[in-house]
Order: sequence, then structure tokens, then C-alpha cells
Amino acid sequence: MISLINVHKNYVDKVVLDKINFEIASHEFFVLVGPSGSGKTTLLKMINRLNEPSSGRIEIDGQDVKKIEDIKAFRRGIGYVLQSGALFPNLTVAQNIAVTLDDKKYKPDEQNQLIASMLKRVDLDPATFMQRYPNELSGGEAQRVGIVRALIFKPNIMLMDEPFSALDPLSRRQLQNLLLDLHREFKTTIVFVTHDMQEALKLGQRVAILHEGEIQQIASPREIMAKPANDFVRNFFAEENPAAQNVENVIAAGFAEESVGQRFNI
Ligand code: ADP
Repeated sequence: MISLINVHKNYVDKVVLDKINFEIASHEFFVLVGPSGSGKTTLLKMINRLNEPSSGRIEIDGQDVKKIEDIKAFRRGIGYVLQSGALFPNLTVAQNIAVTLDDKKYKPDEQNQLIASMLKRVDLDPATFMQRYPNELSGGEAQRVGIVRALIFKPNIMLMDEPFSALDPLSRRQLQNLLLDLHREFKTTIVFVTHDMQEALKLGQRVAILHEGEIQQIASPREIMAKPANDFVRNFFAEENPAAQNVENVIAAGFAEESVGQRFNI
């Protein structure tokens, strides 16, 4: 479980996050949505300590992340996926994925087999893709590799910062559906940042809406649409995504609204 307790952040005299208090359950698919500049990336980076609160604290399974000593080991245990895929340009796909694996744990062929099986899982043919370089991949393919790299060591937590924002609508939909499948399979806790309300409502079991550094509402997609907490929430999805006004359009798969317990039968 991830707990954010009275988190506040300011840069010089500018308040970027204020009075942030919420918890993310183990195995949950949690989405943080808000306009550009609302503080989403700052908040996400605090979870793996790439950023620190000015006051308040973040706990993972009851441990204050500020007090973790082996920060490298801690970060290695958390998958992190960015918009660009953030692949190393001079390494092949297989090498890019292998960087997150512990060399001591696998013999070279075991490692290659594992990478190949994960690539298949995201619909990339290993024979075609393992030896390619990032500049030989489409945006969607690079993002699939980024997801494999983050998932292959079976992290308990995966942080995703606008991972699909640069993709064309078709690749985006395909990767959203793939991610929902992978979440079912791996049971990883996902914290997913997006500025797109429709994407948030499609993916999140719960969605937190951030505006000017403050949480406006945290609820299931269905609750948010049925009972927006304030005018900002109402206007945010109505203005930016007219289609999102129809609950059934967004929750077409009947998936996002499942609770964590229902999804995993726990
Ligand atoms: P989002 O991810 O929602 O677009 P960010 O968390 O990136 O928002 O940024 C929130 C606010 O904090 C923005 O106004 C941004 O300009 C400011 N900000 C982010 N990082 C820094 C920094 N290192 N120094 C000063 N201001 C920053």
C-alpha cells in the first residue's frame, strides 16, 4: 500500500502540491489525472524518491520512503515508464530490457528466453525485434518495449507518466487494452499519470483528479461521472472529452469499475 500523508510541495514561493492525503491499495490500478502543470509528475516522482515533499511524507507498506537507505535497490524494485519509452539509443531492444534484470540471477540463455517470452506477451515477435535499435521502432513498439522493461522483474509497483500520450489513437487504444490485460495478469500496483480524462476513466479502478496542486476528487470512474465533486471536475471531462459524458461509452469494457477485490478475487 502507498500512503501519501499531508504532502505539500513548493518551489521557492510557488505551491505545487498542497494537502495531499490518500492511499493506493496493493494491486490497484490508480490514475492521477489533471491538466498540464497541475503537479502530477511531481507527485509521481515522490513515490520513487526522484522528488521529495517539502513537508508531509510518503509511506510504502508503512515505511517512510525518506528513510530508505539503499535508494538504488529501492528504485530497482519499482517499474517506471515514461512518455518516450526512455530506451537507451545505443542498445538493442534485448539489451535495453536486460539492463533491469539481475545478471547473477539468470544464465544468458535463460535471460534471452525470458526476454523473448515477455516480448511475445506484448505482441512483438522476438526474432524480429530483439536485435533492433530504438530508432528502428515505431512509437507504439518502443512503448511496448518500455513496458516489458518495467514489468520483467515483476515489480510490486509500476509508475507510468503519460506513457501513451505521444501515440496515435489506434496504438494508444491497443496499448491501453494491453495494459489492462497485463494488470490482471501481473497484479502490479499501477500509478498512472495522464492529462486525458477519458483515458483516466477507461483505465483507473480509482481516479484522482488534480488541479493546481490540490486533489479535487478521488473515486471510481462511475462515481466521478455520476457525482462530480465540483465544477472543475464536471467541466474537465465535459469540455475536453465530449464523448466522456456518456458513462457507458467510457466504461464500454465493463472493466475499469471493478474493485480490486473483484478483479483479483481476493
Ligand atoms: P504536471 O505533471 O501535472 O504537468 P508538474 O508536476 O510537472 O505538473 O509541475 C507542476 C508545477 O511545478 C508546474 O507549475 C511546474 O512548472 C512546476 N515545477 C516542476 N518542477 C519544477 C522545478 N524543478 N522547479 C520549479 N518549478 C517546477
